[in-house]
Amino acid sequence: MQALDWIHTELNALDCQALRRPQRTRSGPQTAEVAVAGRSLLNFASNDYLGLAAHPSVVEAACRAAHAEGVGAGASPLVTGRGEELARLEAQLAEFEGCQAALVFPSGYAANVGCIAALAGEGDCIYSDALNHASIIDGCRLSRAKVQVYPHGDCSRLADLLADGRRYRRRLIVTDGLFSMDGDLAPLSELGRLAAEHDAMLLVDEAHATGVFGVRGRGAAEALDAEAAVHVRIGTLSKALGAAGGFVCGPAHLIEWLRHAARSYMFSTALPGPVCAAARAALDLVAAEPHRRQTLLARAAEVRRQLISQGWHLGSSVSQIIPLLFGDAQRAVDASRHLAEQGLLVPAIRPPSVPQGGSRLRISLSFAHTPEMLDRLLAACRPLVAQAASASV
Ligand SMILES: *Cc1c(COP(=O)(O)O)cnc(C)c1O
Repeated sequence: MQALDWIHTELNALDCQALRRPQRTRSGPQTAEVAVAGRSLLNFASNDYLGLAAHPSVVEAACRAAHAEGVGAGASPLVTGRGEELARLEAQLAEFEGCQAALVFPSGYAANVGCIAALAGEGDCIYSDALNHASIIDGCRLSRAKVQVYPHGDCSRLADLLADGRRYRRRLIVTDGLFSMDGDLAPLSELGRLAAEHDAMLLVDEAHATGVFGVRGRGAAEALDAEAAVHVRIGTLSKALGAAGGFVCGPAHLIEWLRHAARSYMFSTALPGPVCAAARAALDLVAAEPHRRQTLLARAAEVRRQLISQGWHLGSSVSQIIPLLFGDAQRAVDASRHLAEQGLLVPAIRPPSVPQGGSRLRISLSFAHTPEMLDRLLAACRPLVAQAASASV
């Protein structure tokens, strides 16, 4: 096995930079309290924002569909993989999002990679926010289009780049709606204006905002009243919706094109029926129980207020995602370990998930957390503020 010896050197290098990640196994369902390596921890690590991943009606829907359709979908949707459950989910997603059509992918990652590479290619230019999710970055790379990365949220820089980009055949602006590691919103109204002015497409990845933001829970574009300006909407079923899979919504001809051009859709087995049924039950709950997202965002605002009064710099978070900036990877890891000793699971996020020098704890709040759990979190964070990055990174 000498041919693979170089890997030991690489792994040792990760150890030296505090970038090695332990392999932990959770037991039991994904809820506000999880058992990790035999210990019960309050879970501030999960993206199950509405507490639906183990909700009885979501679980029940999956079980019923498993009995009706079995588990594996058997093939790509283009072959025989699109069962009735998947067809119903696509129809329900289009209706929920107020779009003509929707297409479901095996994951949010696959939705971004496949959709971006189907919309831009050689001779085109993609304009991508510097803090976009890895799946957007990978979609950009795969597309073979020219990629211009603009500084986070910087519309004036983007305007300059677009003005310079008239020679490209097509232009595509891509952004997270709610940024996954900072918890802030993209300036979608301004991005929409720029897209219109420069004849560009605007794609928004709502992975962390679907189910949480907006009057109906459609995401950041709904919350910012910018839906009409967004041409391509991407979401995931794996976060607030508590299931798995990704989707793209938009006009019918967009969806028809993706069925023929998005390779992560065409060459991957369809999402299983039980997962589709679970996501549909979750969408029903998002519509029927708006208090889940309203309570979550109200509690998140209160947690942020209290953290700021403890002396934390929270960057521009306006959401259930709250970063505690440490800068240095080792300090973030030490803080995470300290919180684990107090019974709290708050992951340290390090490069490459965040830029160099941007290591942090990422607090992820859920409707499933009780006020008492949030009090425990706040009490445990207070003594750590002395180790925090002094200026916001
Ligand atoms: C998690 C995430 C994805 C990927 O979604 P999965 O369904 O987990 O593959 C895509 N975009 C963003 C912004 C994300 O945070």
